[in-house]
Amino acid sequence: MKERNPQTFHVKSFGCQMNVYDGARMAELLEAEGMTAATDGTEADLVVLNTCHIRERAAEKVYSDIGRLRREDGSSPMIAVAGCVAQAEGAEIPRRAPAVDIVVGPQAYHRLPQLVAEAKAGRRALDTDMPLESKFGALPARRRQGPTAFLTVQEGCDKFCTYCVVPYTRGAEVSRGWDAILDEAQALVDRGAKEITLLGQNVNGWADEQGRGLHDLIAALDRLPGLARIRYTTSHPNDISEGLIRAHAEVGRLMPFLHLPVQSGSDRVLKAMNRSHTTSSYLAIIDRVRAARPDIALSGDFIVGFPGETEAEFEETLKIVEAVNYAQAYSFKYSPRPGTPAASMDGQVPTQVMDERLQRLQALINAQQLAFNRASVGRRTSVLLERQGKKPGQLAGKSPWLQSVHLETDAAIGDLVDVEIVAAGPNSLSGAHLMRNAA
Ligand code: SAM
Ligand code: SF4
Repeated sequence: MKERNPQTFHVKSFGCQMNVYDGARMAELLEAEGMTAATDGTEADLVVLNTCHIRERAAEKVYSDIGRLRREDGSSPMIAVAGCVAQAEGAEIPRRAPAVDIVVGPQAYHRLPQLVAEAKAGRRALDTDMPLESKFGALPARRRQGPTAFLTVQEGCDKFCTYCVVPYTRGAEVSRGWDAILDEAQALVDRGAKEITLLGQNVNGWADEQGRGLHDLIAALDRLPGLARIRYTTSHPNDISEGLIRAHAEVGRLMPFLHLPVQSGSDRVLKAMNRSHTTSSYLAIIDRVRAARPDIALSGDFIVGFPGETEAEFEETLKIVEAVNYAQAYSFKYSPRPGTPAASMDGQVPTQVMDERLQRLQALINAQQLAFNRASVGRRTSVLLERQGKKPGQLAGKSPWLQSVHLETDAAIGDLVDVEIVAAGPNSLSGAHLMRNAA
């Protein structure tokens, strides 16, 4: 392996918001080492592929991405594979793709600078440890700027749903400490964040030794001057506390949005998934949340074609979607994950059946999303501007209910503006800027 001395880097993150967060922290770590982000990713001296292992042929996609990094002159950048595929495949990655210099798992990426140093010296570097001391303490202070930011407060999962790879790739459930979280939130606000989304695989399972829960953290963030909006994702139905439900009624800065995956509308399938909640316990939570915050927007995750799922059981999933009436939702075809119990269950559902069920489910979810968006027309609300809009002169941001809103305005990215919603499509809204600052 020839010696290289990377000066520029590019981090490409796939998958969930936690990977986006990890990607931002890896970028900050490399910047703290004196490297600079490449303006054009294809020209970077070091490319970090921050991978996802949750579905489909994720690993295969990584190998084809690695192949595409080869330049016309036959050279390659220094390549690091990070994230959950790195954790799951480990040393198999450089065996199959010799161009890879570094393999680093999601709990070890604070050691990226040492791994780069090893790769510079011509050695292949691999670290998929899950050290007892958390990576967070070893990461540099937050440097990124922007109106919206993710903040991981909880990682890993002990729930072991039978289809899911997360407990194996991210490790056991761990909550970060109160002070570290509030310090990071303050650093993000100091650098311009107006909205913070607290992240965790089971974010509502966040707890500390003093018996505090996620709603206490939310209450503390609510007191941070300069922060306008608080969100959190992803929640598990079993960890929804009364305190969290009350927070939706009482905390003004907590946005009226709840992403609460149910996965299936069939109690038999939920049991086979080891979800440890039922459809009726899920619907009871939805009722309580709606009683606390009647305008809350609900979102969920669904898997179709779990092994053994019958047509009648799939129809129960359609029924629960009808019963809840979601503002948006994610739905996936079941994907057997190597090493998970469901991968070797009898009754694997043929792909054509899964395709057809997914289409029917998505048609229903899309219709609900469109209806939710259309019901917003005429509403006056606030929008946090976070990016350029669809057309020249437009900026775009999110409503409190996480809808994308595009509007013509001379306000700036980072402003919280008052808007009247004037039109609605399936995926976004158009707004008219009312000339009074909401913040
Ligand atoms: N912890 C969260 C929960 O329990 O809902 C979500 C974690 S997971 C990263 C996000 C979603 O991916 C899950 O809610 C599930 O719908 C989907 N998912 C996980 N494993 C899957 C698999 N093997 N096949 C298809 N979808 C899967
Ligand atoms: Fe995966 Fe289930 Fe844990 Fe969510 S709760 S991360 S779906 S094992």
